[in-house]
Amino acid sequence: MDILAKCPKCDAGLPVSSAEAPAAIKCGGCGRDMPLVFSDALRTDRAVDRCPVCAGGDFYIRKDFDPKIGLTVVIIGALISAAFYWFGRDLIAYSILAGAALVDLVVYGRLKDLTVCYRCRSEFRGRYERRAPSFDLHTADLLELEYERRIGRR
Ligand SMILES: [Zn+2]
Ligand SMILES: [Zn+2]
Repeated sequence: MDILAKCPKCDAGLPVSSAEAPAAIKCGGCGRDMPLVFSDALRTDRAVDRCPVCAGGDFYIRKDFDPKIGLTVVIIGALISAAFYWFGRDLIAYSILAGAALVDLVVYGRLKDLTVCYRCRSEFRGRYERRAPSFDLHTADLLELEYERRIGRR
């Protein structure tokens, strides 16, 4: 399982392999030492049960989607179709726009789910079974506040 551990101090994302299960990593952003505790399920890529960064047990599932990529496809599509529109080829312009939207949909549909820790927002990618529910704003508010108090941000 590939884990993106989020530094509690500066929010830098630090890639960690759960198979190696290091006892601690050093943040490349702020130099802070982060102790990590891996459960057996994490180590063997079976499930995400306990966050190695904050020891929390609450997670949600979201699509592994980079909004920047989707936006780029739409913008490039819009630019190309604007050029065709300018030369009076409306039909081609519209079909390119529709094509860009379609590409976005296909990309989105084929994305895999990843698990995210509610408290520290560390991300978990792997072949493990997805068991976490989808994102809930109320839960996120409660758990983030609790975590930020604990690490002294608020
Ligand atoms: Zn840091
Ligand atoms: Zn966490």
